[in-house]
Amino acid sequence: MTNAATADTQSAYDNHDDIRNAVAKLCEGFQGEYWRKLDREMAYPTEFVKALTESGYLGVLIPEEYGGAGLKISAGAAILEEVHRAGCNAGACHAQMYTMGTVLRHGNDAQKQKFLPGIASGELRLQAFGVTEPTSGTDTSSLKTFARKEGDHYIVNGQKIWTSRAEHSDLMVLLARTTPKEQAAKRTDGLSVFIVDMKAALGNGLTIRPIRTMMNHSTTEVFFDNLKVPAENLIGDEGKGFRYILSGMNAERILISSECIGDAKWFIKKATDYANERAVFGRPIGQNQGIQFPIAKAYASMRAAELMVREAVRQFFPVSCSRWTKRFPWISSLFCLPTCRSNSRRLSPKQSALASKADSISLAESIPRR
Ligand SMILES: Cc1cc2nc3c(=O)[nH]c(=O)nc-3n(C[C@H](O)[C@H](O)[C@H](O)COP(=O)(O)OP(=O)(O)OC[C@H]3O[C@@H](n4cnc5c(N)ncnc54)[C@H](O)[C@@H]3O)c2cc1C
Repeated sequence: MTNAATADTQSAYDNHDDIRNAVAKLCEGFQGEYWRKLDREMAYPTEFVKALTESGYLGVLIPEEYGGAGLKISAGAAILEEVHRAGCNAGACHAQMYTMGTVLRHGNDAQKQKFLPGIASGELRLQAFGVTEPTSGTDTSSLKTFARKEGDHYIVNGQKIWTSRAEHSDLMVLLARTTPKEQAAKRTDGLSVFIVDMKAALGNGLTIRPIRTMMNHSTTEVFFDNLKVPAENLIGDEGKGFRYILSGMNAERILISSECIGDAKWFIKKATDYANERAVFGRPIGQNQGIQFPIAKAYASMRAAELMVREAVRQFFPVSCSRWTKRFPWISSLFCLPTCRSNSRRLSPKQSALASKADSISLAESIPRR
């Protein structure tokens, strides 16, 4: 590749340095002890989420006409990567950034006017996503939660699982069957998307039960028992919900992969600092190749993964689900997971800060997650 071609490729990617610097500054107020205390108490990072919200970072992808910043996916990726590079965790609120895409792309004007300005300001939290069920995970078209039309309402019955942040959300994007699978022309037909007003529904047909997990991810089981959802909360056409949900996943995959890159950068820095600081036999342990090589390998893997995520950002098109946009983030997480694992284990158990973050990143969490 010529130098000119390299320079051109580099200039095509907007790194959003100003945003990164500002996010890094915000994160300085939320150091390791803040997160370790939350982990111990399995508590929600309310203050951190408030700070991100008030700074406008969670609304950057919402168009300006609805009160957001109207920025591109690269800005969202920069924000979430920077949060994780600083040792913080955006998992508590990242869905506020992208779940609104379902309303933005497939909602009608009235729905956009009703929900998007509140989501942009943070007054409304749309960060719960009800798709997975106990008997249907990856096989989404087999989900059983059913929404039956009755006058100007739908009556919803069923159950969701791993519904993250349900207790910290005002609204939920819900995927439910509106036509039984056996009566649908295709198995992916007959599924519909609704916006559920969770605050109004709680105790009126909606029950949320927290699930205790290895990591602090505020995840829950959600039960629907004759829950009434106004028909005006149906997003797009009835029966086409499967493709609406899929269309939102490109953004989600890219943004969460950016968090994985940020995690890897955090671990590599911690490992490097400790290797330079810890002296044994009268010299820093980092002078030994047995310590140097794994860190160098992790760095090379992280940079390769970073390039893949950037390529996914470059190819991002919110509606189509391109083969590569789906795969880049998956591959990036495969690179980053060993980085986090090996750097945390190789050095020393004394590094409790490092161990704490490593422990909180389970295999499940390190793959692109919701
Ligand atoms: C941290 C976290 C947060 C989550 N938050 C949410 C949320 O907010 N909302 C929500 O709806 N869901 C959420 N989920 C659920 C998540 O999206 C599901 O776990 C996912 O859809 C997979 O479903 P499953 O766990 O039932 O796996 P299964 O469907 O049981 O699959 C298990 C494994 O088998 C593999 N597999 C299955 N079939 C095949 C096949 N034919 N070929 C090859 N491999 C196959 C799968 O890839 C997977 O690795 C969350 C999960 C995690 C870990």
